[in-house]
Amino acid sequence: MRSSIEENIIEVKRRVEEAAKKAGRNPEDVLILAVSKTIDVPRIKEAVQCGLNSLGENRVQEIMDKYEPMGEGINWHLIGHLQTNKVKYIIDKVCLIHSVESLKLADEINKKAEKAGIIMDILVEVNIANEESKFGIKPEDCESFIRELSKMKNINVKGLMTVAPFTENPEENRVYFKGLKDLLVDINNKKIDNINMSELSMGMTGDFEVAVEEGATIVRVGTGIFGERFYPNKK
Ligand SMILES: *Cc1c(COP(=O)(O)O)cnc(C)c1O
Repeated sequence: MRSSIEENIIEVKRRVEEAAKKAGRNPEDVLILAVSKTIDVPRIKEAVQCGLNSLGENRVQEIMDKYEPMGEGINWHLIGHLQTNKVKYIIDKVCLIHSVESLKLADEINKKAEKAGIIMDILVEVNIANEESKFGIKPEDCESFIRELSKMKNINVKGLMTVAPFTENPEENRVYFKGLKDLLVDINNKKIDNINMSELSMGMTGDFEVAVEEGATIVRVGTGIFGERFYPNKK
């Protein structure tokens, strides 16, 4: 019998495929990042067995805890706010940091990457809807921010990421996804040295189809794969 995680994954894949085709895109150009925060190792392993070996976590501690038990062959992504003093713990563990939104953080990633002898792939987090409560660079500040990052030798700016507003109606976020894509194209057109971005990390369980239609190359799906999350400290 199929587990519910397996069924969920089949369904998410089908919906990504449909959205990609609708937009004339190749579904293989969209990475489904399984957001495994709060999920225990046995359940994450079920998802990996279904072919999803790229995992997104928003806390450094959870990557540390799950790194060994999950074993080899996992592509870990850090998708949540990253404190400068924690960069050293994950620099050799993650393949992409989605949440770079200050020069101080970028500078620390650059330094630790140099020390580790690697070039770290990163995305710039953009607060595309200008929400008070959200992390991220303001759209109008993105170009100058990226010009600064372009000088850091051990950082490779792969693209942009956003956490769109929470909404019941995914169509309401279409304007923001389109805006993030336009911003990426716009900045690429400035021909900044070392900058040629190709990744758009946007869309979550509630709105990933609209994001794919608007050009997402990475969708971050948690609830849609693992079901509702349980936070021990919350009711
Ligand atoms: C938790 C989280 C997600 C996944 O959210 P779902 O709605 O469960 O799909 C995506 N991106 C970030 C940054 C997250 O923290």
